[in-house]
Amino acid sequence: MNTTSTPAPVLTVRGLTKTYGSEAASVEAVRAVDLEVSAGEVLLVMGPSGSGKTTLLLMLGALLRPTAGSITVTSREGRAVEITAASEKELPHLRASTFGFIFQDYALLDALTALENIEVAANLAGTRGPAARERAAELLDRVGLAHRAGARPSQMSGGEQQRVAVARALANDPPVLLADEPTANLDASRGRDLARLLRRLADDDGRCVIIVSHDDRLREVAHRVLWLEDGEFREVAAMAVDPVCGMSVEPSGPHIEWEGSVLWFCSEGCKREFTEDPRPTIAATGSPLQHHHHRTAPGARGSV
Ligand code: ADP
Ligand code: MG
Repeated sequence: MNTTSTPAPVLTVRGLTKTYGSEAASVEAVRAVDLEVSAGEVLLVMGPSGSGKTTLLLMLGALLRPTAGSITVTSREGRAVEITAASEKELPHLRASTFGFIFQDYALLDALTALENIEVAANLAGTRGPAARERAAELLDRVGLAHRAGARPSQMSGGEQQRVAVARALANDPPVLLADEPTANLDASRGRDLARLLRRLADDDGRCVIIVSHDDRLREVAHRVLWLEDGEFREVAAMAVDPVCGMSVEPSGPHIEWEGSVLWFCSEGCKREFTEDPRPTIAATGSPLQHHHHRTAPGARGSV
């Protein structure tokens, strides 16, 4: 295996911005966010209340139009689709073929049983009749709730309801799962179970799972944690990536100016290596994209 290879991102976000209102009364909820998320990755976006987490997630899932920027998603068929360029007419199909949503309050229909809630979602995704019912039963079993198929949401615990909501989010077999504060209404142990379930959906199915939350307990299932503050990835943006070895470095040590930006290095050795053989690289300054801690930065060269 080549350890320097980076899987193609399922989701690529550039300059994503949302401004609510206009003129004097406007709120810039998300400011020029850049992001890449891979298949099989659990990304946790943390931040205080009002930092823009929900706004960001809604835009990623094509539920809210950005003011500026682009969101490119790779569909199940391997086609790259620019969400912000899609027309209103195209959006429902795009959502149904790409995203599964999980909300803080579960958002289940209480007039329907657990099984029916999932079945309806399968219907909306284009699966009809007995096949939809079969799919719903299969998904309910997957989240450990086969025995609760006939129960209504009001007869279930919060943890059970959220697992039904996860099963519902899987009805269309989406490559991307988006969860907004999924554990906020759950106690410690049910919150942990739910978090681990989300992790399995990334590990076992290769789905891209993006969770926004201020719940610290979710850290244990995340491959990567980003901090959102006032609509920006703050602390991460304070770090830089050594373009030679790919290490995250404080922007305080050896550095050079190169093609209009500053490059930071972990050591004089890496700096020398770069100046002797400068190569274009995207691992320049502060972008959160290079902070996959389990991967070498794109464009990094082996130092052995
Ligand atoms: P979080 O989910 O991190 O709590 P939000 O995305 O809900 O943050 O909100 C980010 C900012 O945008 C806040 O200042 C909030 O008041 C504002 N905001 C959110 N939704 C709207 C809206 N529909 N209209 C106007 N302002 C909004
Ligand atoms: Mg929110």
